[in-house]
Amino acid sequence: MTTSKEFRVLLYYHYVTIEDPEEFAKQHLKFCKETGLKGRILVANEGINGTVSGTVEQTDRYIEMMNSDPRFADMVFKIDESDKHAFKKMHVRPRKELVTLRLEDDIDPRQMTGKYLSPKEFYEAMQDEDTVILDARNDYEFDLGHFRGAIRPDIKTFRDLPDWVRENKEMLEGKKVLTYCTGGIRCEKFSGWLVREGFEDVGQLHGGIVSYGKDPEVQGELWDGQCYVFDQRIAVPVNQKEHVIVGRDYFDGEPCERYVNCANPECNRQFLCSEENEHKYMRSCTDECREHPRNLYIKENNLTEEEVKERIEKLNEENTVNA
Ligand SMILES: [Zn+2]
Repeated sequence: MTTSKEFRVLLYYHYVTIEDPEEFAKQHLKFCKETGLKGRILVANEGINGTVSGTVEQTDRYIEMMNSDPRFADMVFKIDESDKHAFKKMHVRPRKELVTLRLEDDIDPRQMTGKYLSPKEFYEAMQDEDTVILDARNDYEFDLGHFRGAIRPDIKTFRDLPDWVRENKEMLEGKKVLTYCTGGIRCEKFSGWLVREGFEDVGQLHGGIVSYGKDPEVQGELWDGQCYVFDQRIAVPVNQKEHVIVGRDYFDGEPCERYVNCANPECNRQFLCSEENEHKYMRSCTDECREHPRNLYIKENNLTEEEVKERIEKLNEENTVNA
């Protein structure tokens, strides 16, 4: 590695049988806490999926410990350098599934999955005429960045993806289908599901967007925007050759890559918005959220009820589209 940052973020998953996920999670949490790691790890009968952060030493210890277990001996870690922890706490949670697809008839990626494509292979396949690139992530992830020309499924959670595909079948029929996601884990199941649905030529980006961005050959080419990640970093760069901003400010549609959460804690919706608009719109996605009694922006800025009313009136006078 050509950097001297003190921290690292590890992203990894592995489909392998874990007999007693509850017990495993308990022991694992203990080890992680003792090691000083922070992060979020899911454990299921079908395997493990995690993101953890720690110092170089701590993450080395974790990798060593995992790789010494025959079940995880060949588990691949994607490693990002970082200035600090990417999480506040350490969680290890037993779950039914590693990714929530909730299929009536589950897919075991060890039995059925799409073709694994290396970043180079994926890069080349994307440029084939008969190829459809299907983003296997959620809409808000797509909006921050995606492969050039990829289809954006209109879904809020992963488990809605199969229904979306069935409703939009004609987009994919007779084509080579390429799927991708952040680290590759969602595509393992999703591409397997596509194969079972009868799509004949299905490829998945092995190692996901994160590996694609680090690949010394492709260097993230054909990726526009940034990659959404589920930790405090929120966005990480992918394309090392050029940076095209595709994110758009929720309020004025200007290029933007800055996510905020709606100040109404009951809404908490994540949207892209400039610092200026954050203040102008009181970091709230609607008037309803602006007026919410527990609005955090109002609290942080000590606004009186009167002031809030005035500001909302002013916004409405400007006749903004999204407000
Ligand atoms: Zn809101």
